[in-house]
Formats: sequence, C-alpha cells, structure tokens
Amino acid sequence: MKNDFPEIDVVFDADTIADRIETLATEIADKLPDDVLIVVVLKGSFVFAADLLRGLDRAGMRPRVDFITLSSYGTRTESSGTVELTRDISEDVRGRSVMIVDDILDSGRTLAFATDLMTARGAESVHTCVLLDKHEKREVSIEADYIGFPVDDLFVVGYGIDMAHLFRSLPFIGVVRQG
Ligand code: 5GP
Ligand code: MG
Repeated sequence: MKNDFPEIDVVFDADTIADRIETLATEIADKLPDDVLIVVVLKGSFVFAADLLRGLDRAGMRPRVDFITLSSYGTRTESSGTVELTRDISEDVRGRSVMIVDDILDSGRTLAFATDLMTARGAESVHTCVLLDKHEKREVSIEADYIGFPVDDLFVVGYGIDMAHLFRSLPFIGVVRQG
C-alpha cells in the first residue's frame, strides 16, 4: 500500500481495518438490539466509529449515535490517572441499550469511566467496542466486548488517532519511527 509518510511504519493497513470492521459489525448485529445507542468517545475514535456505523447498517442494524469527549490528561504519550468529561452526550440513556465505542483500550480508565457513567444514568445494558486493545497496559479491571485488534504497547497514530494533533487523517494505523 502507498504510504506518503516515510516516518511512519504501517501496523494495520486500510484494507485490513475494513475487513476486520465488517466482521465485527456482523458479530455486533448478531448480539445487540438493532436500535442500540452508540456512544462515540471523541476524538480518537471518530474515523473508526464512522466506518463501524456503516458496517452495522449493512449488517441490518439501525443504530442511534451520540458523542462524548473524555480526556485523560498527563504527559503527551502516557495517560494519567484522571479522566475528565469535557463534552457530554445529549441523549437520555435511561432504559436503553448502549454500546460505547473508543479507539484504544489502554489502562482501562477511560472505558471504565464511560461505562460507569452510562450505568449510573440507568442504561439497560452497556456494551463496549474498541478498535485496539493494549492488554498488557491494563491498570483497571475491564475488558471490551468487541475488539478490532490486540496490539503491543506501541504508540500508534492514524485512522483518527493523533500525536499532538497530527496524523488523524491517515487511512491506516502506524507507529512513528523513533530517531
Ligand atoms: P486509557 O484510559 O485506557 O489509559 O486510555 C485510552 C486512551 O488513551 C485512548 O482512547 C487514547 O485516547 C489514548 N491512547 C492510548 N494509547 C494510545 C496510543 O498509542 N496513541 C494515541 N495517540 N493515543 C493513545
Ligand atoms: Mg481516547
């Protein structure tokens, strides 16, 4: 595949991501109600969510969508212990089936925060879907119900995921080469 960014090594190319999302969408459509409310955790998962939603539609679902912005602040490449809600959803989740969509499951704090919030607000069920799972980095006991790919502890960019606001528009996921 053509890569115009010589400083980035491709980890998952666009076709690999598209194939995986199609399979994930079928799995989700088999299990969750057609009118599930998808809560997209911004910003990193916006590209993944856009592709996943269209996959869910092809799989026969008619999901609703809302957006929440969460940030775990700290140094540039390590998340800290605090999750901050900076923009809330506008939907009422009471009695509804919710699926939270995030880009990367790392320490687990972000997904745990979002899951606890939806549960506390009275969602009937809360499922979770992440594109990438950095399993070895977990600090909070949480697993996602649906996972795109497991990954090693690499700092990844592309496909919505940034480094200092760069690289979100890359069509693939890669790592910035060191040195
Ligand atoms: P957690 O709360 O699980 O520690 O952090 C998850 C969030 O940390 C992700 O949604 C993402 O915003 C950020 N994150 C974790 N790993 C990476 C990475 O490799 N690259 C980038 N750009 N962000 C990451
Ligand atoms: Mg995030």
